[in-house]
Amino acid sequence: MKVNQAEFVISAVGPNQYPEGALPEIALAGRSNVGKSSLINRMISRKNLARTSSKPGKTQQLNYYRINTDLFFVDLPGYGYAQVSKTERQKWGKFIEQYLLEREHLKLVLHVIDLRHPPSKDDQAMHDWLRHNGVPRCVVVTKADKIPKGKWQKHIKIVRETLEMDKADPLVLFSSELGIGKEELWQIIEQRIGY
Ligand code: GDP
Repeated sequence: MKVNQAEFVISAVGPNQYPEGALPEIALAGRSNVGKSSLINRMISRKNLARTSSKPGKTQQLNYYRINTDLFFVDLPGYGYAQVSKTERQKWGKFIEQYLLEREHLKLVLHVIDLRHPPSKDDQAMHDWLRHNGVPRCVVVTKADKIPKGKWQKHIKIVRETLEMDKADPLVLFSSELGIGKEELWQIIEQRIGY
């Protein structure tokens, strides 16, 4: 997709703030600091539209970015931030769960994982939940530039095994730093939204 226009639309704190209309939505899930904002910026070739490193845990909101008049990227609050209270976590869970289960415009969840480390317990729980509920998903393993190329396959294998993914489940190797995986990910998104 050629991105001609990309703009921040809203930080929605509840369903009544979700944008109207029928544009398809591509959501990003992942633990705080995994690189979701950087991934959005790379996909749209902008340095800074999606805010990187916003205070983790403080963002109980869905950040909507409109790409052309073709789709929204929806950045979900990062999970797994240790200093968030249990009540906060539960609130997070309910809010996101509702969005992921009920939003009819949602076409795909990009589940962003750090290539350097085996998926955490939170990553596993998220993945299990998406699978269990039949939410269309694509695992994106990012920060590939932080691992030598010769070790990529080994790390990918660990991610696939830890998440108990099927052979056919899509996984894209990505680097926001270098742009690795950008075209492949656009193709998957385009296919999902019937572009
Ligand atoms: P978010 O909290 O998931 O939105 O994470 P950010 O996009 O803010 O990224 C967290 C940190 O990781 C920032 O310092 C980014 O510069 C860095 N980062 C994100 N993606 C990559 C990547 O692909 N490669 C490298 N080397 N650093 C990355």
